[in-house]
Amino acid sequence: MIFDHPDFDAHEQVIFCNDPTVGLKAIIALHSTALGPAAGGCRMHPYESEDEALTDVLRLSKGMTYKNAVAGLPLGGGKCVIIADPNDPKKPDLLRAFAAHVQSLAGRYWTAIDIGVGPEDADILAEQCDYIFARASQYEPGFNPSEFTALGGFMGIKAVADTVFGRSDLKGLRVAVQGLGATGYALSEHLHKAGAELVVADVRQDAVDRLVSEFGATPADPNQIHAADVDIFAPCALGAGLNDQTIPEIKAKAICGLANNQLAEDRHGEALRQAGIAYVPDYVVNAGGMIGASTVIFTEPSRAASIKQIESLQPTIKDILIRAKREGKPSSAIADAMARAKIKPEGIT
Ligand code: NAD
Repeated sequence: MIFDHPDFDAHEQVIFCNDPTVGLKAIIALHSTALGPAAGGCRMHPYESEDEALTDVLRLSKGMTYKNAVAGLPLGGGKCVIIADPNDPKKPDLLRAFAAHVQSLAGRYWTAIDIGVGPEDADILAEQCDYIFARASQYEPGFNPSEFTALGGFMGIKAVADTVFGRSDLKGLRVAVQGLGATGYALSEHLHKAGAELVVADVRQDAVDRLVSEFGATPADPNQIHAADVDIFAPCALGAGLNDQTIPEIKAKAICGLANNQLAEDRHGEALRQAGIAYVPDYVVNAGGMIGASTVIFTEPSRAASIKQIESLQPTIKDILIRAKREGKPSSAIADAMARAKIKPEGIT
């Protein structure tokens, strides 16, 4: 029963989408529309089971509510998962069939890119649906909305430099970047231009070589990058990297990176606080992609308007870090409380 599911959190609607003509199986979860239409990306993944897909969509949609709320967006939280292999040749047909389901919600839910669904796929969704953003055709050729996410990461590191290190510039600040893909590379580029020194790791040697040659980065062992002797650690690869094993080994005074779900468990927010490490909550700092791409829901696409909004992450992150220190609480708990206060203003139960 869905209402008893451990990850069910008073979601407003969970919709199971089926189209046997193309073999579509998908789930849309609208966690909250308290602040505006629910918004969050569309993931395509060959889940082992329907329960695994349901768990993912319930968690991800709640995360979007919190992310959009703290980012100050007039949007609620939702997410959808299509149970399929993104390399399936039927992908365009699956996307078109799925888009009709999103269209039937008449704007209660807007969707976009995520794992397995890129900006070109978003254009295919938009053939059947008016509620799609982060489409390739909305930007100049070659632009990847991950660059918005990376800009948000740069704002986060500037906030950390000021709040934790009392510095207005990044010159000589040492940052360890774990994962040099779309976000990690673009974040490293911002940091290099601002004069930071980079220590980098990736399981792909070509990605490391590129950073060494372009930005003079120092390579590190991917299994040890979290323990690098740096000022800031920036996880930009997989989730759950902040855990019982890694936290005691971290030498950085601050963590600010773009990977999702960095804390293996909620309690690791408190473990970081006790270790004296300032942690920028992942869903706050990686909201840049959502902030930048979602502007098209309300206005014509404008890169300048997106950048201006992403820059607003810097004061939000400073506020979270300062409050965490003042109140002696984990920054992750402060961010969650901020989100909940926006979704459910005081006095409303
Ligand atoms: P990506 O696939 O482009 O890059 C990830 C990189 O991490 C790859 O180069 C991969 O080789 C590397 N990697 C994988 N395992 C590793 C390991 N153990 N050690 C070191 N490197 C490893 O992905 P991305 O778009 O840059 O996303 C990175 C993270 O940021 C993900 O957690 C994603 O969910 C999150 N995120 C991305 C966006 C976005 O706009 N792309 C937005 C919000 C959150």
